[in-house]
Amino acid sequence: MDLRTVMLMLAIGSFLFGLLLLIFRFNENKPQKVPFWAMAKMLQAAGSFMLYHRTTTFDGLTVLANIILLLGCAYEAWAVRILSGKFVRRRLHLFTSFAIILACLLTLFLDKPYRSGLVFLLQGVLYFLPSMFLFSNSELKFSLQLPLAVCYSAAGTVFLLAAILCFIFTASALNLEGSPLFAVIPVVSYCLFLISGFILLMFAKERSDLQVEEIQKALKETEIRFQHIVETAIEGILIFDEHYKITFANKNMALILGYTVEEMLGRSYVSFFPKDQLHVYYYQESLRKKGEDSVYECCLLKKDGQKHWFLVSARPIFDDFGRFEGSFAMLTDINERKEMELLLEESNRKLTELSNTDSLTGIANRRCFDATLEHEYFRLRRSNSQLSVILLDLDHFKQYNDCYGHVMGDDCLRQIGRVLASCISRSVDLAARYGGEEFACILPDTDIRGAVKVAERIRQRIQELKIEHKKSPVSEYVTASFGVITVQYSSEITPENIIAMADKLLYKAKISGRNKIEYAEANGLA
Ligand code: GH3
Ligand code: MG
Ligand code: MG
Repeated sequence: MDLRTVMLMLAIGSFLFGLLLLIFRFNENKPQKVPFWAMAKMLQAAGSFMLYHRTTTFDGLTVLANIILLLGCAYEAWAVRILSGKFVRRRLHLFTSFAIILACLLTLFLDKPYRSGLVFLLQGVLYFLPSMFLFSNSELKFSLQLPLAVCYSAAGTVFLLAAILCFIFTASALNLEGSPLFAVIPVVSYCLFLISGFILLMFAKERSDLQVEEIQKALKETEIRFQHIVETAIEGILIFDEHYKITFANKNMALILGYTVEEMLGRSYVSFFPKDQLHVYYYQESLRKKGEDSVYECCLLKKDGQKHWFLVSARPIFDDFGRFEGSFAMLTDINERKEMELLLEESNRKLTELSNTDSLTGIANRRCFDATLEHEYFRLRRSNSQLSVILLDLDHFKQYNDCYGHVMGDDCLRQIGRVLASCISRSVDLAARYGGEEFACILPDTDIRGAVKVAERIRQRIQELKIEHKKSPVSEYVTASFGVITVQYSSEITPENIIAMADKLLYKAKISGRNKIEYAEANGLA
């Protein structure tokens, strides 16, 4: 086989090889995507094809062909370096390319054997490079690493020998072309090209298989770690599909609710919500479908029907096309804390109620009366309406106590309290025990006619109770005297004034015979 034929075969072989690599490059699924490789083969193909035309003459085009061919060899060396798990510095790559171009340009000024010797020498070095990369310790060891390194070493040796021969024959002025060793170079280099190309392909395949294997292993490890975290999490974890059916529940979640994981799967999330919490469910569902995360408190029903409180942190899941695919929820058990909170809320409510209630009669006490009057007084300022207050005092109650005793006296006060409560119909009105045997009512937005009507009703009902009072000079039954005041807002009037005015009227009722109602209107101080 002569040099020209070898060059042609090398050109065709390299071109096909490069084409194959380019096809792989554009096919995303193929793992043999190694930088420099396809380019190396294409350069080698182009260089070999140009040399095939130029074996007899030497000119600028031969130099260009040598540059292209040697650059191809350098690119192949980088591809092997990358395949053996290292990376190629851009600076090194540029420097090598520049050196190759310079060396080839130098051949323009050399005699024939020397210029061939220099090209062979460069080729030899560029073939030794990949073998060096493969021999040097790499993190990964491949079964084809050694034969490939041997192939490149053999190719490097052949070209170095050729270079040495060029220099020796030139020095001894012997005929270079006639040497049998020189004749064997084309055949050997072509064989090595085929073998190394094949091994390189296998090597790349083995490397990518190993990479895939490693990725799968890492994925498996992550999956196991994730599963472990989920299973041992103190939190409950739930995953729902787009219809809010449970597709995943961790053991802890099932345990808290008293189910097994299998029992929970496929059930709809809404079925865990008590009726009074359904609004929470529907609101949260609408948020998720809009793509919003949220943290909320809710109570879910356990298997035994008991309610259990959770702090839920939820986020939606969307598929690659942005369609709602379900959601993920992390549930923290806050039942103990929530129950304490509810108990505290209830006892606070009871405490407030107690602190505003008169323990004897069960109606509002003086404290509540004062606070309500203050509040209504400020409301009056804004509404520019009327506010009425009734103050009533049982007549000759000291005598009642003296005659019937304190127990009967207390019972009488209780009955009066009930009468007051029954005579106050509107929710904004307030009946209170003002102190001792004195009672009071606050009637917001009520004019004097309305307030007197209420006072009269109370007076009547007290009489209708027919509580015997033998010692009363007014009546044979317990009676009360009333002072009714209706005010309009004025800067001169204060809540204290209102009470003082009502008290004055009450006193008037007392001195004018008792069991009477005295009333007045005020829009300023009298
Ligand atoms: P008047 O018609 O002028 O109002 O005469 P009165 O006797 O009702 O008025 P006075 O202020 O002299 O006496 C009020 C009495 O009310 C004194 C007390 O024996 C009685 N009293 C006050 N608070 C209570 C209570 O909580 N229970 C009982 N049983 N009696 C009370
Ligand atoms: Mg009194
Ligand atoms: Mg009295």
